[in-house]
Amino acid sequence: MKLLWCVLVLAALVLAEENEGSSESSESQEVPELPLAEECDEELCKLPDCRCSSTEIPGGLLPRDTPQFVTVTFDDGVNVININTYREVLDGRQNSNGCPAGATFYVSHEYTNYRIVNELYNNGYEIALHSISHKIPQDWWATATYGELKEEIADQRTQMAHFANIPFESINGVRLPFLQLAGNTSFQVMADHDLLYDCSWPTNTFTDPGLWPYTLDYASEQDCMIPPCPTASIPKPWVLPMVSWKDLNDFPCAMADSCFYTPDMEDEEAWFQFIVSNFERHYLGNRAPFGFYVHEWYLSANPAVKSAFIRFLNLINSLPDVFMVNSSEVIDWVKNPVPVTEYRAKPCRTWSAAACPVSLCGNVPSEHNQMTYWLEACNVCPRVYPWTGNPLGL
Ligand SMILES: [Zn+2]
Repeated sequence: MKLLWCVLVLAALVLAEENEGSSESSESQEVPELPLAEECDEELCKLPDCRCSSTEIPGGLLPRDTPQFVTVTFDDGVNVININTYREVLDGRQNSNGCPAGATFYVSHEYTNYRIVNELYNNGYEIALHSISHKIPQDWWATATYGELKEEIADQRTQMAHFANIPFESINGVRLPFLQLAGNTSFQVMADHDLLYDCSWPTNTFTDPGLWPYTLDYASEQDCMIPPCPTASIPKPWVLPMVSWKDLNDFPCAMADSCFYTPDMEDEEAWFQFIVSNFERHYLGNRAPFGFYVHEWYLSANPAVKSAFIRFLNLINSLPDVFMVNSSEVIDWVKNPVPVTEYRAKPCRTWSAAACPVSLCGNVPSEHNQMTYWLEACNVCPRVYPWTGNPLGL
């Protein structure tokens, strides 16, 4: 019965999630408390720590000398319901240079099984932050205060490192729930807590050619689809723009599963062509990183889409100048861009397996609502279900 209830709650979350990528505008934002950033000056803003928002290829490389990065990402809680899909589509993949392929999980805490997060980390995928509560409504995130976002994001890093027993330093990316930025605030929290990049900000304007990652030292030229967007100078964190796909009627979609005019959901060949045509806009263009941003349920509910996705991954894993990587690897490359021949020859990234001294905590009572939550962790069991304000459940 409890499981059924959890599934229903998950289904509700999934429905709420469908709003991700929608361009709901809200006029009622507070006046920015920080001065506006100045126009970007490429003479002053230089790699590795500063980059103007631009579609120019880092390092002044030609497209043919530029590695085409592909970032596959999944959002939300990681648990026994979705791990089988992740294993099926990802495990064992290599890029054409023999290095392990990457993927990034923007994990929200609620309903997450940390034994499974530990498994994903040990398989070389990137674990990133998607908030502790993922609470509704979406507007809450638009107006969240510094303290609230610190509790949801910065504290989640501590929580994730603790319960999945993975290195704190390995967790350095953020995607906000519903792709809802909070203006300057979310980036200030990231800057103050040494988080490397955000991947919440869609662009519909800079898709062809696509926008490359950049910093916020100076004013961004990126279009603001889901306001409020940052306006102040906030050095350090990188923006990894979500370059929108185009659906069959040329309408933009920030996430693959938010496209409206899609091929028939049962037509694998049409879906394969659809994915490839979006990929080619990058690969045959300025090679801005290509994102395949999706929720697991979309693949498990649509087997033909999943098959098309697997075919696409098989294709890119065979191309000599395409690399399926963890999102943070894209930022690493942008900071120090090297030609594709040099990149291919680099040693593969390495990581150390993290132990999981399994704690089957079972049903843990929560203090923030009347529920108990099933919990598996790679650390001592918490006293109460971990939540904002008490991320370790002490
Ligand atoms: Zn989400």
